[in-house]
Amino acid sequence: MLDLKIELSANRKAKPADETKLGFGKIFTDHMFVMDYDQENGWHDAKIVPFGPVPMSPAMTCLHYSQEVFEGMKAYRAPDGSIKLFRPEENFKRLNVSCDRICIPQFDEAFALHALVELLKIDADWVPHTDGASLYIRPFIIGTEDALGAHASTTYKFFIIMSPSGAYYATGLNPVKIYVETKYVRAVQGGTGFAKTGGNYAASLKAQDVAEEEGYSQVLWLDGVEHKYVSEVGAMNVFFVLGDEVVTPELDGSILAGITRKSVVELLKSWGYRVSERRLSIDELVKAYQDGKLKEAFGTGTAAVISPIGELKYKDLVMEINHNEIGELSQKLYDNLTGIQWGKLPDPFGWSYDVK
Ligand SMILES: *Cc1c(COP(=O)(O)O)cnc(C)c1O
Repeated sequence: MLDLKIELSANRKAKPADETKLGFGKIFTDHMFVMDYDQENGWHDAKIVPFGPVPMSPAMTCLHYSQEVFEGMKAYRAPDGSIKLFRPEENFKRLNVSCDRICIPQFDEAFALHALVELLKIDADWVPHTDGASLYIRPFIIGTEDALGAHASTTYKFFIIMSPSGAYYATGLNPVKIYVETKYVRAVQGGTGFAKTGGNYAASLKAQDVAEEEGYSQVLWLDGVEHKYVSEVGAMNVFFVLGDEVVTPELDGSILAGITRKSVVELLKSWGYRVSERRLSIDELVKAYQDGKLKEAFGTGTAAVISPIGELKYKDLVMEINHNEIGELSQKLYDNLTGIQWGKLPDPFGWSYDVK
């Protein structure tokens, strides 16, 4: 395994006094992980250093052609004071999948996890103690070559930065209003939808803005070819309870393979639910609503875990779901997942990873 050098910060910052007012992704811990890549040495010079600005050339590849991939994960403070991660191997595996799509060289996943664990041990005091708050972790890789030619960079930097973040739901689970997007698309098959890359987010900002102007908090994306099949909701995967079937769109290359999505599917199956990963058209969804079969809808992702959908607007049709209240299944999934993540419930699947 690579060597990991450690340079500790001489001036540690004061920790936020009020953990109920952390917000999201605005404060950073004392240290970060950095590792370099070049063609001669491969990945090398791995180190933990004080968090701070990075020298950059205004010509570097990622700034012009978006050669960038990232991950989002959290560290949780368990009741006994220990620190836990949730399925972290899955994040580094997915980061390499994203790398492959964006022509970034593969890295050693076990080493990346080892580096994260060392970083967490150094900045352990930054993992919040307040209920619902956690330490958000952002691994990312950028192309750094000083060249404007539109080709893959020959040099890269891998970073991990960390940010104490507040509870997503300050006042418990809240249903959100969703606008079904019929003009803009997020991804197409053959594109980069399955990769966690900044470009996908840039492409989705416009629709998000329009939805917000109309009073909706996110958009429900339809497929990029026919504008017919349900894809994702905002930057979350999406589930619908249709009668006794729980449906989520199949991973067709345009959809991000969420780790929360995967965990929800596994939990539901373990509870005996009928879960289908399949194509679901907006017409089928509307029909299910009209027939009274659309019982619940929710988004899934690391940030919110479960985000119940209370209202769905498609063209002129406003569909109220479960009386705009949190569904029974949404609540049960939220309680079980967060219980496992925070070490408050047994972990029958071995998803929790102890940082030690
Ligand atoms: C990160 C992300 C998700 C959720 O993935 P998790 O692993 O569950 O956090 C879903 N969709 C998109 C587009 C994403 O970027």
